[in-house]
Amino acid sequence: MKTLFDRSVAGRHCSILPPCDVDVQTPSETRQKALHLPELSETDISRHYTELAKQTFGVNDGFYPLGSCTMKYNPKINERAAALDGFANIHPTQDHAQGCLRLLHTAEQYLCEITGMNAMTFQPAAGAHGELTGLMLIKRYHEQNGHPERTKIIVPDSAHGTNPASSAMCGFTVVNIPSAEDGCVDLEKLREVCGEDTAGLMLTNPNTLGIFDRNIHEITEIVHAAGGLCYYDGANLNPVMGIVRPGDMGFDCIHLNLHKSFSTPHGGGGPGSGPVGCKAFLEPYLPGERIVEQDGAYAWQKRSEESIGAVRSFHGNFLVVVKAFTYLTTLGKQGVPEVAMNSVLNANYLKHKLEDTYELAHKGICMHEFVLTLEGLKKEIGVSAMDVAKALQDYGIHPPTMYFPLNVHEALMVEPTETESKETLDHVAEIFLDVWKKAHEDPEYLHGAPHHSPIKRPDEVKAARHPVLRIPLDD
Ligand SMILES: *Cc1c(COP(=O)(O)O)cnc(C)c1O
Repeated sequence: MKTLFDRSVAGRHCSILPPCDVDVQTPSETRQKALHLPELSETDISRHYTELAKQTFGVNDGFYPLGSCTMKYNPKINERAAALDGFANIHPTQDHAQGCLRLLHTAEQYLCEITGMNAMTFQPAAGAHGELTGLMLIKRYHEQNGHPERTKIIVPDSAHGTNPASSAMCGFTVVNIPSAEDGCVDLEKLREVCGEDTAGLMLTNPNTLGIFDRNIHEITEIVHAAGGLCYYDGANLNPVMGIVRPGDMGFDCIHLNLHKSFSTPHGGGGPGSGPVGCKAFLEPYLPGERIVEQDGAYAWQKRSEESIGAVRSFHGNFLVVVKAFTYLTTLGKQGVPEVAMNSVLNANYLKHKLEDTYELAHKGICMHEFVLTLEGLKKEIGVSAMDVAKALQDYGIHPPTMYFPLNVHEALMVEPTETESKETLDHVAEIFLDVWKKAHEDPEYLHGAPHHSPIKRPDEVKAARHPVLRIPLDD
């Protein structure tokens, strides 16, 4: 695609400014050489940016089954609410902003009710930031109770990749345990590694295989019996919200991804929100200030001296909370569990349509997502998960998450979400089956996919580590 500089024509401009009525400074007086700016009409500029916008892909363009990311459609009404003047143009120290404080207070109550927790902070700016915050609570708890020797966090191998990373960042030693045959936590292994040095367990549930751990109560009991605490990675709350509560399963703290389950656009590096909820005994350690209701008015209140301190300014990304609150009030008490059930139904429907052709990493009913393994296909005809993912792009859909979870070879992790219709799922199933057919007829075609994208197969490590974001100019 041409850059604005390629499109530049000397003397062309947007006729917006009136003629210059002051002395024009020649470059030699003020700078070494003339500013190198492209000269363009407004039409050129508009078309350039529209062309750029067409090269991105988002939920508004089509099916986006990125596993573990919950790329659901985000209702526009959320944006409208967040853009209201009283929310968008408020300063966090304006404590007479009763409406904003009330919204935060009510959102905290709703989310505590959904998770079975007693208190929550909105400071963390994303899921992984929430994990770090939750782990800091666990660390502070053990220190305050005279157990600084509890330095190990147990993380099953079906956890999200951020779990071991957050544990290490918080100064804990990570104890990895492999899953059992059925994809659930291996209870024997868990018992073996639990001991006097255990600070806690971090569980992603449903896990990255899309499985709800059937032994969930036993898991939290084993960890508690050893003196550890239980952390619930709630980024995958979509299939269980309004149905079961991590607090009732024995978990002591949790983070949520408002920008996944609770409907805020994400994926472009935009603002997120990873609130952390906890049981009452951990509340004194929460960061930031609390919002309390006194005689019908809302006020800030400092937390205890034992608080871990701020992990971010004020109340984190407030407007993301406004969007989540709008989403929750639109759905109501009946709508939240309906979201969960439809996300599970959609995943199972699509899985069922594919399972006679593609190989599943784990058979049986899944939750909101399922994992395919293309190991057999690769061995048989040399077509990899990467080839299939690239080929899907030519059909105008976003590929699923690839090569994750790590415990499945040639993985494709599919999460359709509840906001897709049966017609879309039927269409997508046809696409997947068509790609399978093509893979057998003409593997070379798949190795060359995508055939219709401006960028085809970049070196992914290089693209992530050394992105070229500027075009060097000659003069
Ligand atoms: C997305 C996700 C995270 C990390 O959330 P970020 O907002 O990307 O930091 C953690 N755990 C699970 C299970 C996730 O799906």
